[in-house]
Amino acid sequence: MTLVGQRPGQRPRERSDQRAALDLCASGPLVLLTGAGLSTDSGIPDYRGPGAPARMPMTYQEFVSGPAAQQRYWARSHLGWSRMRRAAPNAGHRAVAALGAELVITQNVDGLHEAAGTPALVALHGRIADVICLACRRTTPRSVLQRRLEDANPGWAARHADVASRPDGDVDLDDTSDFVVPACEDCGGPLKPDVVFFGENVPRPRVERCYAAVEALADTGGTLLVAGSSLTVMSGLRFVRRAAQRGVPVVIVNRGPTRGDELASYKLEVGTGDWLPALAAVRDCRIHHGM
Ligand SMILES: [Zn+2]
Repeated sequence: MTLVGQRPGQRPRERSDQRAALDLCASGPLVLLTGAGLSTDSGIPDYRGPGAPARMPMTYQEFVSGPAAQQRYWARSHLGWSRMRRAAPNAGHRAVAALGAELVITQNVDGLHEAAGTPALVALHGRIADVICLACRRTTPRSVLQRRLEDANPGWAARHADVASRPDGDVDLDDTSDFVVPACEDCGGPLKPDVVFFGENVPRPRVERCYAAVEALADTGGTLLVAGSSLTVMSGLRFVRRAAQRGVPVVIVNRGPTRGDELASYKLEVGTGDWLPALAAVRDCRIHHGM
């Protein structure tokens, strides 16, 4: 285990001190960065978590390569959507909504933080419930497209009901050449889920809003709390790096190693579904008692 990034004199065992980590997060401003580990209790698999199956999601370059890739994507999404739509927020999401955080940055596209009523939220990678036209950039609800997909492909879902579906809109499916993909109703352009694919950048204003919230913690004595993310992709890891650069303490709550472990003041190997409600209870208590 490396000691880089720990506080001076802090031993590795102390870094896993749940009580001390809870105390640090219990008062003062908080910014949260959440990932797939938070949604596993809602039945949405974490493809990067411990024991997760190896999987290669479609890249942006592949999606825009032409109609065949878009048929493949939307056919799989069509089958996976019903399970995604049924997912509900869990105790972790509800706790996050109650923390009074300055900002919650989520890497999840499942919309469950929104469903739990989280007030200040940036969906870093977009939302799977939104669809964007690549030509005119108009966004429309995924639920509307789902009806159009059903109308354009009658009986298709029933014929492929045996295919194991994956909730983020990707299922194992070989032949999708007969699948009809509706186009934008305004301009006829190609439709894409309004989520950031691999090989695609997070929109700059979104990134800047997150950096600003993290940097403000340096002036307000706040903490960056990472919950349920292995910080595999740079789009989230960069905020942890910025916090560390500015001397903002970082607490990571995640089962399994993360790419930010070296930068964290505390690293807890516990489930977010237990730890976050405990934190929410402590913060609520201190806020109401003016501590
Ligand atoms: Zn359009």
